[in-house]
Amino acid sequence: MENGTGKKLLVIGCGGVASVAIQKCCQNSEAFPTLVLASRTKAKCDALAEQLKGKTKTEIFTAQVDADSVDEVVELIRRVKPDAVLNVALPYQDLAIMDACLICGVDYIDTANYEPEDTEDPAWRAVYDKRVEEEGFSAYFDYSWQWAYQERFEKAGLTALLGTGFDPGVTSVFVSYAKKHYFDRIDSVDILDCNGGDHGYPFATNFNPEINLREVSAPGSYWENGKWVEVPAVSIKRVYDFPEVGTKDMYLLHHEEIEALAKHYPEIKRIRFFMTFGQSYLTHMKCLENVGMLSTVPIDFQGQKIVPIQFLKALLPDPASLGPRTKGKTNIGCVITGVKDGKEKTIFIYNVCDHEECYRELGSQAISYTTGVPAMIGAALVLNGTWKKPGVFTTDEFDPDPYMDMLNKWGLPWVVDEHPVTVE
Ligand code: NDP
Repeated sequence: MENGTGKKLLVIGCGGVASVAIQKCCQNSEAFPTLVLASRTKAKCDALAEQLKGKTKTEIFTAQVDADSVDEVVELIRRVKPDAVLNVALPYQDLAIMDACLICGVDYIDTANYEPEDTEDPAWRAVYDKRVEEEGFSAYFDYSWQWAYQERFEKAGLTALLGTGFDPGVTSVFVSYAKKHYFDRIDSVDILDCNGGDHGYPFATNFNPEINLREVSAPGSYWENGKWVEVPAVSIKRVYDFPEVGTKDMYLLHHEEIEALAKHYPEIKRIRFFMTFGQSYLTHMKCLENVGMLSTVPIDFQGQKIVPIQFLKALLPDPASLGPRTKGKTNIGCVITGVKDGKEKTIFIYNVCDHEECYRELGSQAISYTTGVPAMIGAALVLNGTWKKPGVFTTDEFDPDPYMDMLNKWGLPWVVDEHPVTVE
């Protein structure tokens, strides 16, 4: 099904997630005969293209682009004429790339919803403050900015597929798959993200540090009975025994797929998201927050403007460099309760991914792997027309079956446990 489209994909960004997505596209050359790799630092695209030379039938070109500039992205799209753009740069670039796709008439795919780089920008702040007041959750990222493009993409006959990483991405597909095959009605969803990997550093993040630390240090929130409930950051803790990983502490976070699932599945009474963290990670994060290192507000330092969290990023290990050091497994999935044929039912759909196996296959750790594979799958399904319809959509809004088949085929096999432990 995913074969023979003869299409060209422009990939923007060339970091940890992009490296996996690109290598997976190259394993699936029939779906991706031509790739253009473009990023702020072209040397990274060139190095990856060189590494793939002779190992794939996919033809690869490279280019430089600053994707904060709509004009630069438009110029690039007009020059290379792709059928779709896969944005695996940062969430800061989402809107500029969507604008460029609309101007040029090409489909758009990403893995993370929009958030602004400068959270002090008064124009953004005014919209944000209104949303916090009306919706009740205060994380910096939300879907409203990208959902606002719905009419424009629909009128243009273009598809924007948002958030096709693991979480969001696969987790939302797990919910739509559960609804299609296991439930007449879903009552609750607990999304559990467990990284049982150990990289040996006292402190490092497993994807972009700036985005990761913003996410974890934000107040937690969950959806219950038609509204958001917000709680202080990492204040709700649970312990869960993850298959193939073991018992871990996990903490409730705000996460973007809750927003999409609450909108598209109004029957679901409660949706929560938990992520595992060790005590050392949390202690480091608290300390960095207390001294102001997580701040996004620029400060003057010896005549220069410095954004503390960006300076911190420069000090921390590059997530892409964790691959050779990380041992252990991830287990990410959804515990879902509901009713089938009048009987109450609970399932846990999950994937287990081994850091060392990912490194052996693609030179990457499992977090980049579990995000990059679904990015390739989403792009393939949009390109071949299986998941193509006009408008802006998250992954829970399409037929889950082809996506689930591709997860099995391309390195992220999943399991359905029909007698799992639930989360208190
Ligand atoms: P990295 O920091 O490793 O890579 C980001 C890449 O984007 C770098 O190549 C960087 O270029 C490039 N970039 C940054 N700014 C620009 C710009 N203005 N113009 C062009 N290129 C730019 O990040 P990750 O690979 O860890 O994460 C990529 C995305 O994946 C993020 O949006 C993240 O939120 C998302 N993600 C999603 C997950 C999910 O499950 N849904 C999980 C993990 C991540 P340079 O090399 O010059 O710095």
